[in-house]
Amino acid sequence: MDVWSHDRWGIPLPAGHKFPISKYTLLRERVQGRVTVLDSEAAPWEWLAAVHDHDLLGRIRDGELTVREQRGLGLPWSEVLVERGRRSVGGTLAAARHALEHGLGMNLGGGTHHAGHDFARGYCLFNDVAVALARVRADGGARRALVVDCDVHQGDGTAQALAGDPDAFTLSLHGARNYPFQRIPSDLDVDLPTGTGDDDYLRALEDALDTALPHARPEVAFYLAGADPFEGDRLGRLALTKAGLRARDELVVERLRGAGAAVVVVLAGGYAHDVTDTVDINAATAAVVAAADA
Ligand SMILES: [Zn+2]
Repeated sequence: MDVWSHDRWGIPLPAGHKFPISKYTLLRERVQGRVTVLDSEAAPWEWLAAVHDHDLLGRIRDGELTVREQRGLGLPWSEVLVERGRRSVGGTLAAARHALEHGLGMNLGGGTHHAGHDFARGYCLFNDVAVALARVRADGGARRALVVDCDVHQGDGTAQALAGDPDAFTLSLHGARNYPFQRIPSDLDVDLPTGTGDDDYLRALEDALDTALPHARPEVAFYLAGADPFEGDRLGRLALTKAGLRARDELVVERLRGAGAAVVVVLAGGYAHDVTDTVDINAATAAVVAAADA
């Protein structure tokens, strides 16, 4: 199957920066051959403007984010950062269009869920899922949408961007004591205690899907398969094993497919002490998607 990646647009980071930029290229190398990895196109600015505030986009484009915005983003501005961000969105859109045609699609990137209508923060420049949803709606491909956000951090930007949208349901399952500390509520938020392991997590996820799916009745579903609920993650406060994360991926993909939705899988976060662990988790997600596609 075809998947998308923007890893070739690397950004300059100061030595010791916490963002694991290498995981994207390591993942491409790992999955290449089992899937076909295509370069993501840059999403045009007009498409970003369907979701994001005009002035915010101007500040991002021109490198004029305020000091406060720059600090909140956590990545140093550069032209290639903007190009990379647009390609990350483009990858999710390509995966969404692929999913609407073939049932499943995957971006080896995206899941930038802390970007909202008028803010870019937490390593997230643009909200790829909200932009891709606006685009597939404009294409006439789908209307009703469900976002299943299993990154360990609550999906505040997506919640804000899709708030008041009667045809979009946002579900976020996350560490109760993880960033962001001031929440923007999703349609359904599930706060999990620090140290939650595989069994309790999977039970909570199953319950959340039982609630969300009948409300959402999705034609398209976006799954943020964050690698950061992993027990060895530097930022996440949950304690899933690699086997638990794989069971999570299988559960979500199966339930969303079973509900008749086109399923779009994106990566979101992953900050394991050893980047190889993050790549293992992401590659397992890609394997689950490829198996479901077979
Ligand atoms: Zn995260």
